[in-house]
Amino acid sequence: MRIAIIGAGPGGLYTAALVKRLRPGSEIDVWEANAPDVTFGFGVVFSEGALGGIEAADPPLFAALGARCAHWSRIDVHHRGRTSRNGGYRFSAIGRRALLALLRARCADLGVTVRHGTRAPDADELARTYDLVVAADGVNSATRDARREEFGTETTRRGSRYLWLGTERAFTALTFAVAETDHGLLHAHAYPYAPGLSTFIAEVDDRVWEAAGFTEGDAGEPDASGRSDTDRLADLFADVLDGHDLRTNRSRWGRFVSVRNGRWSHGRIALLGDSAHTTHFSVGSGTRLAMEDALALALALDDHGSVPEALAAYEAERLPEVAAVQRTARTSQEWFEELDQYADLEPEAFNAHLITRSGRLTRDDLASWSPDRVERVRERFARADRSPRGAAVR
Ligand SMILES: Cc1cc2nc3c(=O)[nH]c(=O)nc-3n(C[C@H](O)[C@H](O)[C@H](O)COP(=O)(O)OP(=O)(O)OC[C@H]3O[C@@H](n4cnc5c(N)ncnc54)[C@H](O)[C@@H]3O)c2cc1C
Repeated sequence: MRIAIIGAGPGGLYTAALVKRLRPGSEIDVWEANAPDVTFGFGVVFSEGALGGIEAADPPLFAALGARCAHWSRIDVHHRGRTSRNGGYRFSAIGRRALLALLRARCADLGVTVRHGTRAPDADELARTYDLVVAADGVNSATRDARREEFGTETTRRGSRYLWLGTERAFTALTFAVAETDHGLLHAHAYPYAPGLSTFIAEVDDRVWEAAGFTEGDAGEPDASGRSDTDRLADLFADVLDGHDLRTNRSRWGRFVSVRNGRWSHGRIALLGDSAHTTHFSVGSGTRLAMEDALALALALDDHGSVPEALAAYEAERLPEVAAVQRTARTSQEWFEELDQYADLEPEAFNAHLITRSGRLTRDDLASWSPDRVERVRERFARADRSPRGAAVR
């Protein structure tokens, strides 16, 4: 089988690696517009149980990930000078750059070709010579947008503005912090992802954004007053940042883009990861979902004799699962958009409200890997490794 993959993000690279493990004879070509090591963002977090599928499908990759991830067990909520600590969780996080480097190395071991710095040819052109074209080209997928009617695409860009930053402040928990300013409320989500490095995502509504004097350009660039948006945010969150600066990586204020598609395939073209669906970053699930899509697609391709049957099975499994996580994420996004309503609560009550998002969001909402399911995936890949065709590529 010949497979063309557009985009070497977590979804595209993991699809390539898993298909190659199950079907070593397949020919897989991946195109990535950026050079290796050029990417947006900082660390991504995985909640408890989220990596169960990866552990079962690819133990060497899971071990490498585990060694590079930061791990912690608390959610801290900073509000009005008080920190409420909530224990008993299990989170991991890894820098996006480190995750992509691990996935690239895995692809190289398995004999997958990744063409960096090269935009992919149009999907229709690829579909003439490949059995399957996987559009793993991210939230702004041009492949999807050129076929919105065929995929039943709905995209909305709404809600507060956010800015994805990093800091050398070594947070020790998934941390939600509220800053009360003369202009109104801002909040931030922060978590560690490598020794001495943490992600810091600030969110603010339009009214406060304008009143606080934030700007549209590169958030690290000083304006006429000599101050940048990262300087302003570092001042507003000085207590939680403990005096540390904020760093940028292609960081500009954006709005969360909600993506849904009624269908994830059209002919030989399949959507995967953010091109198919997005979930608000306050539940930290997008990378995990993209990698789970990859796993479902690889298994479906191995199970079914024809690409149309495999794509039907892939959609039937993933569409409802992802829709459930999207509902949960929407609840979380709305809670943060309504933050003004809860800000006057005493810190303890505020903490309880945030942790349960009004009783609507529980920690079980985001776990999708039952022990049975993990075992089935483990057995499936172990069988592929034992077979003569798989022995060479373990
Ligand atoms: C602020 C923020 C915080 C987040 N935090 C988390 C988190 O904590 N945990 C989590 O799990 N997820 C998080 N996410 C979501 C996560 O980043 C995405 O869900 C994930 O990157 C999706 O992976 P993907 O492979 O589908 O797409 P991407 O990672 O976007 O990769 C798509 C790739 O396709 C390439 N590309 C696009 N068009 C072409 C073309 N024509 N030719 C060649 N290449 C092309 C792009 O350059 C890119 O490398 C966060 C997102 C945001 C915005």
